[in-house]
Amino acid sequence: MSRITRFSLPASELPKQWYNLAHDFSEPMPPPLHPGTREPVSLADMTAIFPENLVEQEMCPDPYVDIPEEVREIYSLWRPTPLLRAVRLEKALNTPAHIYYKYEGVSPAGSHKPNSAVPQAYYNKQAGVKRLATETGAGQWGASLALACQMFGLECVVYMVRVSFNQKPYRKLLMQTWGATVHPSPSLETEFGRKILAEDPDCTGSLGIAISEAIEDTVKTPDTKYALGSVLNHVCLHQSVIGQECIKQMELAGEDPDVIIGCVGGGSNFAGMAFPFIGRNLQGDKKPCRFVAVEPESCPTLTKGELQYDFGDTAEMTPLLMMYSLGHKFMPPSIHSGGLRYHGMSPMVSHARKLDLIEAVSYPQDQIFESAVLFARTEGLVPAPEPAHAIRAVVDEAVRARETGEKKVILFNLCGHGMLDLAAYDLYLSGNMRQTGD
Ligand SMILES: *Cc1c(COP(=O)(O)O)cnc(C)c1O
Repeated sequence: MSRITRFSLPASELPKQWYNLAHDFSEPMPPPLHPGTREPVSLADMTAIFPENLVEQEMCPDPYVDIPEEVREIYSLWRPTPLLRAVRLEKALNTPAHIYYKYEGVSPAGSHKPNSAVPQAYYNKQAGVKRLATETGAGQWGASLALACQMFGLECVVYMVRVSFNQKPYRKLLMQTWGATVHPSPSLETEFGRKILAEDPDCTGSLGIAISEAIEDTVKTPDTKYALGSVLNHVCLHQSVIGQECIKQMELAGEDPDVIIGCVGGGSNFAGMAFPFIGRNLQGDKKPCRFVAVEPESCPTLTKGELQYDFGDTAEMTPLLMMYSLGHKFMPPSIHSGGLRYHGMSPMVSHARKLDLIEAVSYPQDQIFESAVLFARTEGLVPAPEPAHAIRAVVDEAVRARETGEKKVILFNLCGHGMLDLAAYDLYLSGNMRQTGD
């Protein structure tokens, strides 16, 4: 073998701390506001739905936070995850660029989401919580939280966006296998769900509606707290294990990235990959690097949304978050990247965009599947539709490098596999994928 294309870290290199970019921003992030008073939310406001230990983490100003040993033990079931060089894709594109990808699909749930589900279940258990309620789009977060709750002996209730509940029966079965109860949302379980169904019995749901249902369930059921799989600061914090491992793995590969690319739904896998590198850049000890967030053209939060205080959910139950948003009443078309159908964006990723630390681009569905199939046919792995957005942007960067003759180093986060998304590939391969999907 003349060339090494896989860069693995030993178990001993599993990060011991999470990295918090909030500490290194040149100006502080605007705080979340109480929608009634428009004053910064208090600890008491937040502890209605989250345990105090996680609220403290949400507001944490420290650059590093220790990862509890119990969490590291569970992480070690699949972490450190591999970094690979996509030499066959490079060859197919005839590009001088070097393309690297961090593969998060090796977790039991098949994506990066357990990186936050596990610590969230851990901290809730520590706080004496017995039951967690949440929402899920494509089912990736619900499955990850079901897994984490199972490991810590917590009950798990998931409100799953109805269109995905119907299109993705295998993720529902995965959640049930890990012991969770799953309701299609809008559901008859909550007042808000019943109200929506009364107005529109065929409503296919949205993440915003499912979040409202999960929060209503939380405030009405004893010993229950709410868990969110993206967007919030503590989720971005937990995901930083991805980028921290990557920094060491790129050193093993003997290269330094010129551009780092990730898909964005709520922003957490992109944050997890990019923030440790951005932190390193801000500390000024490395050559500058570009960061590109990629989103679907049909849910263009960063590229077309406005930076504003907005609700995280449709029913206006969450605090107001300063973020790029399409408006909390925005109903995204039911494209097959369920994980990217969110009206808002992580306040941390939004702040990074505002400070010009990152760029954003968007692509239509047919283009992302074209690149996903090219990736599968060259590298073997079948990517989930979400990271296929990142792959599309990688292909465009690599083609530009061919045109300019630059030997660019491109790194992206392959945040999940597509083995449970083959129905979307079927639509593409059979020529039945519409621009907005169906
Ligand atoms: C949930 C999910 C996303 C979108 O969420 P982020 O918080 O933006 O990472 C992207 N890819 C996969 C595979 C997912 O499961």
